[in-house]
Amino acid sequence: MNASETRQNSLQTPVEYLKGVGPRRAESLRGVEIHTLEDLLDFRPRRYLDRSDVRLIRDLNADETVTVMGEVVGKDLVRFGKRRLIIRIYDGTGLLEAVWFNQADIFDRIFQKNQTVALSGKVSRYKYWQLVHPDFDVISEEKEQLNTGQLIPIYPSGQELKDAGVSNYAFRRIISQALQKFAGEIPETLPDYLQKRYRLISRREAYRQMHFPDSTEKLQQVWRRFKYEELFYLQLLIALRKHFYYSPAVGIPIPVEPAQLENRIRSLPFSLTGAQMRVLEEIRQDLAGGQPMNRLVQGDVGSGKTVLALLATQMAIAAGYQGALMAPTEILAQQHFFNIRSLLKDPSLKTALLLGSLPERAKRAVQQRIAEGKVDLVVGTHALIQEAVQFHNLGLAVIDEQHRFGVVQRSELIRKGQTPHVLVMTATPIPRTLALTLYGDLDVSVLDEMPPGRQEIRTFWRSEDRLEKVFAFMRERLAQQERAYVVYPLVEESEKLDLKAATEAYHFLQKEIFPDFRLELLHGRLKMAEKERIMENFKSGATQMLIATTVIEVGVDVPEATVMLIEHADRFGLSQLHQLRGRVGRGEKQSYCILITPADVNEVARERMEVMVKTNDGFVIAEEDLRLRGGGEFFGTRQHGMPDLKYADLVSDRNIIETARKDAFALVEKDPHLRLPEHAGVRRHFKQRFVDKFQMANIA
Ligand code: ADP
Ligand code: MG
Repeated sequence: MNASETRQNSLQTPVEYLKGVGPRRAESLRGVEIHTLEDLLDFRPRRYLDRSDVRLIRDLNADETVTVMGEVVGKDLVRFGKRRLIIRIYDGTGLLEAVWFNQADIFDRIFQKNQTVALSGKVSRYKYWQLVHPDFDVISEEKEQLNTGQLIPIYPSGQELKDAGVSNYAFRRIISQALQKFAGEIPETLPDYLQKRYRLISRREAYRQMHFPDSTEKLQQVWRRFKYEELFYLQLLIALRKHFYYSPAVGIPIPVEPAQLENRIRSLPFSLTGAQMRVLEEIRQDLAGGQPMNRLVQGDVGSGKTVLALLATQMAIAAGYQGALMAPTEILAQQHFFNIRSLLKDPSLKTALLLGSLPERAKRAVQQRIAEGKVDLVVGTHALIQEAVQFHNLGLAVIDEQHRFGVVQRSELIRKGQTPHVLVMTATPIPRTLALTLYGDLDVSVLDEMPPGRQEIRTFWRSEDRLEKVFAFMRERLAQQERAYVVYPLVEESEKLDLKAATEAYHFLQKEIFPDFRLELLHGRLKMAEKERIMENFKSGATQMLIATTVIEVGVDVPEATVMLIEHADRFGLSQLHQLRGRVGRGEKQSYCILITPADVNEVARERMEVMVKTNDGFVIAEEDLRLRGGGEFFGTRQHGMPDLKYADLVSDRNIIETARKDAFALVEKDPHLRLPEHAGVRRHFKQRFVDKFQMANIA
């Protein structure tokens, strides 16, 4: 690091430094994550008011919906009768009144004489032209020169900001001050050659135009620049992760004789599909090669990923290393644990199950055995990445249902060993754009073939008032020795209520509808042993129906189950519905998925149901999901380890994603330490924004 990199960047100056930002305003700015001048410049206007859309009061007509702008010339808080606030504005051509009947006192505090305001609403005539409860923006407190542009930025304004007097005008005043004093210090973050290649405006210009735009065209350039920059750094993060975690590392050599592998495959209870064979060969080559494997196996629900994971761990163990298999739920971890025995039939294999819900002493005992190398294969949940867990010699880390974990958790597991091989599996077939971002640092194998003999699951969408018929149908299935799931949504915010609903449904169904069958209730709050017992009963057929919350969303595998009934299906997302549906159709019998919703669901929910009925193809569903939800949620709470996207959209900006990816990977290929002079700006920015936040210290 050289002197100019360590020098405190003046854009890191706290906002208090600016005139007009006292302690109170600074505090409320911190409430919207504005701490420094840089944060301030980064604060994106919510929208822009275009003066050419503003109407003159002289030209208004009744019943039109319009925006007008003018100066507040009068104000009345009428206190008797029905309280109301009236303000009068003048725009040089006429007078207009705006009226608020509710919360008149609050509006009284907002509007002051001599302010310039913009009001939008439907025009009526009452002495003057009138707007009742219009949308409004306070543009300025007095006549000011900042307001000359055609486009006026309107900033987000929470109540807190308003209370502290940070109006739209105040924002513009302090931002203008910041730009005047510090524009010269806004560093360029993109290499010159990329900026030229795509004719992007400079970062300095982009900030200036974002806050004080000259024209709509200029604003378009602002977005184009920031979108590219954002996606470029996202891809740079991915490219560097890939480069530094994997490429230089010497992989643990795990050579496997093809003949030996064939023997193992032959001892499985079924023969592998062509796709499974192909992916297994890719894994075998990775393990033998000089670099650590870093592979994603993507395959729709039921395509048979587990067996591949188990065969891979078996190879690592045979070479003298430990294997770890991490799953997102305890139920799934348990199931994998049991599958090891039935699939691998290897009595010499020393296995352990490590779950958060184990008693402390038992947990410590397992941890000790792992550390001493007395366990070959550990199956577990997040409990595997706790501080206390240390491996003797981890050779292969497998992460199942990767989409339920984050990138950071993945690297935490990896760090339990010395550059172990990594295999991650996901049933959420992500569209290509997303794959490039979320899993951009992995090699991808696709399992595009289902085990033989599977029938297409038939999916129906029914409203609640037709439940009786649905139950009659389920009785028929159960009478044929088949089994069924009934799933209730359970969201954290209303966990107690949801659990109550599921519990009541269970009692009702057992007593009133299916008295001659055995039902059980399964949810996440149960003790581990209890969950285990319930799953065992369902597998063996002692129980014929499981009433469950979404704990069974992933992984659960009982081939005799042929009916999946999803209550309140409108409360689930598309990929979740698809996962749930994947719990049936795992045997050779015809399976059914029945989606139940209220009769009057909204448009988006309706579309989701229709997609489910129309297709069983996970890829189509993932594309539809992305279209219906937008990309944001994929990055949200679930996918830790990715920067938020403020400007770019994963759906509509696909082209930019691909371009930025190519550029970022090329840069890392050429200059992985970002040491070339032309990358000085990239290096500075990356260190400042990404190194700590995304645990990239080994890069610096
Ligand atoms: P997923 O890919 O969703 O994790 P699983 O690994 O749970 O799928 O496999 C689904 C079911 O298919 C399991 O019961 C598994 O034993 C079975 N299975 C996997 N591969 C084959 C195969 N080649 N032939 C027949 N059944 C298979
Ligand atoms: Mg699975």
